[in-house]
Amino acid sequence: MDGTGGLRNIGIIAHIDAGKTTTTERILYYTGRSRAMGEVHDGESVMDWMEQERERGITITSAATTCSWRECVINLIDTPGHVDFTIEVERSLRVLDGAVGLFDAVAGVEPQSETVWMQADRYGVPRIAFVNKMDRAGADFHGTVGDIRERLGKDAAPVQLPWGEEAGFRGVVDLLGMRAVSFGDGDRGASVARGELPPDLAEAAAAAREALVEGLCDHDDALAEAYLGGEDIGADRLRGAVRRAVVRRGFVPVLCGAALRNKGVQPLLDAVVDYLPSPADRGAVRGHSAKDVSREESRRPEDGEPFSSLAFKVATDPFVGPITWLRVYSGSLRVGQSVWNPHGRRRERVAKILRMHADKRTELALARAGDIVAVAGLKATVTGETLCSEGRPIIYDLMEFPKSVMSVAIEPRTAADESRLADSLRQLGLEDPSFSWREDPETGQLLIHGMGELHLEIVVERLEREFKVGIRVGRPQVSYREGVGRASSAESTFRREQAGRVHFGHCRLRVEPTGGQDPLEFVSEVPGKALPPRFQRAVRESVEQSALAGVLAGCPLIGVRAVLVAAAFEEEESQEAAYAAAAARAFREACRDASPLMLHPVMRLEVHAPPDQVGGVVSWVSGRGGRVVGVRALRGREVLDARVPLSEMFGYASAIRSQTQGRATFTLSFDHYGPMERERALGLLASRGLPARPSPDGGFFWPERGKSV
Ligand code: GDP
Ligand code: MG
Repeated sequence: MDGTGGLRNIGIIAHIDAGKTTTTERILYYTGRSRAMGEVHDGESVMDWMEQERERGITITSAATTCSWRECVINLIDTPGHVDFTIEVERSLRVLDGAVGLFDAVAGVEPQSETVWMQADRYGVPRIAFVNKMDRAGADFHGTVGDIRERLGKDAAPVQLPWGEEAGFRGVVDLLGMRAVSFGDGDRGASVARGELPPDLAEAAAAAREALVEGLCDHDDALAEAYLGGEDIGADRLRGAVRRAVVRRGFVPVLCGAALRNKGVQPLLDAVVDYLPSPADRGAVRGHSAKDVSREESRRPEDGEPFSSLAFKVATDPFVGPITWLRVYSGSLRVGQSVWNPHGRRRERVAKILRMHADKRTELALARAGDIVAVAGLKATVTGETLCSEGRPIIYDLMEFPKSVMSVAIEPRTAADESRLADSLRQLGLEDPSFSWREDPETGQLLIHGMGELHLEIVVERLEREFKVGIRVGRPQVSYREGVGRASSAESTFRREQAGRVHFGHCRLRVEPTGGQDPLEFVSEVPGKALPPRFQRAVRESVEQSALAGVLAGCPLIGVRAVLVAAAFEEEESQEAAYAAAAARAFREACRDASPLMLHPVMRLEVHAPPDQVGGVVSWVSGRGGRVVGVRALRGREVLDARVPLSEMFGYASAIRSQTQGRATFTLSFDHYGPMERERALGLLASRGLPARPSPDGGFFWPERGKSV
């Protein structure tokens, strides 16, 4: 194969417990990557799983492992499942070319599978589906296929049928070749036998094949013509049609197996090679010119193109030290080469290029277009940044980073701890963009922000264990934001005489709600000839700074646009610092008059429960100030979709378990920042000693100094 045709960059996406780890172990074993086949014994409980995940956050730094199957090299990119680590899934989806969606044949499409599937849609990643655990009692292959069609909105059809079911599950029927495939008993499934169809399956297989061909005809005119012309559609021709439909993201072929029983994994590897795209199949990658971000540019996945890549993970490797994982999109990279980081506008030198295998690493002299490698030697590149050729810089879209919704106050124990803390936090920030820290402007406490309790626990543990920083930790708390309810304007003039010189600045600002959730957006309606750019910049920076500190309770403002509508300019007297001061005051006044709101994180809670347990969950949700969005039936169970404030969700897992006698499964993920109920918001402000009053239109206002309200 030429070019990148023999390369697959793939990930396995799944709900927790669907069998991702078990399947990955088999893949590494059958491809000869690992000599032993580890077994997963993490039990059924969430706690066990958390223990494991906690350890892996610390010890496992591999973002990808490389193996080969038939004529292909496969980079298998790791995608952890817990919602606290959505960032891990995002960064993987950003760089992979195809994915295997793994489903539990008993549970069907679970909430987290739906979430990751939607993420994959957003990144336009072609997929195949593997229905695992066909050996379990209650396994339902066709039900799961129906679920995939219905809940994930995909044109999906089986390319295999299960051979036997539950305890009698023996192997799979390959609908393309119309063969029965079975797996050796004595050799951990390593030997694969392909034979005649068992007579009792012949009819069902013929019908399923017919349905597959008919479904594909909708995507493929050439196939439709041949099929309607009565031609015999051979296995190779059908394989080509499936591949084209998958690569165009129109179709999801469904396979099945039981990874734990060593059944179905090799045909899954065949499907990865046969159906999922190579970098070349994905085509040119679009980005923006680093010199003019409004201009689109693209790079073809070829060695001859200028070098470009995306840093998708920064981690510390126990043997090599800090390493950066790169997806090379175009051109090639040599050891010792300097690359350009257009975000920080700095050069970085690549000291080592590494390929990580499951249990060993190899140093490479060269990385090529399409490849995924780890490099050592980079000093200041953050997850999500582009690294490229200095002469032909390009910027790829940043990944979408989830919003942090929880924080915890930390305090170094000793002076030595304090001196190590800043560097350690910086290193953690490079690795994990969903983690941040800042001083609370109201209390002066150092707060670290993250995706949830588990995420923050891991950060604290890493600070102590890995970075050897002793810290005291407060109670985790919800992160709030602020917003405005309506538009308002204000102006301010700054004029002061100092050392015989007048310092002058003036501006008029309008603030307005954008309806979105993004950080402050700044727009200037003042032409450069009315106010020179450096003063405009001073206004902008001052407004952005003020927005971070909020106007109510010291929380960042989101969903707000600030517009510079007018500004006076005095040739001799205008001063940047004076514009900054005027802008800060005008912004604050405009926001205070714009019905400012306290916003809190609202979570999406999805509960799968037996019908007779749903009532209890509904009243639990409304007792917590939550709102039920919908209830639907799913294979004898009911699925409840609700929105609940995060502040009410502490200890929710055990509450729901006891509410449903442990018969429910549930997922919690961040949905949006929403306005807090007035009483709650007032309580919060009062607890921080802030003298806000409710205003008639639902926001708050302040007693002016010296006036009473
Ligand atoms: P992950 O959370 O997606 O990585 O799932 P794991 O691979 O850790 O598997 C979760 C549990 O399901 C473990 O107890 C596995 O032994 C079990 N499991 C995985 N695959 C199968 C299978 O094919 N059949 C059965 N019966 N159990 C399985
Ligand atoms: Mg696992």
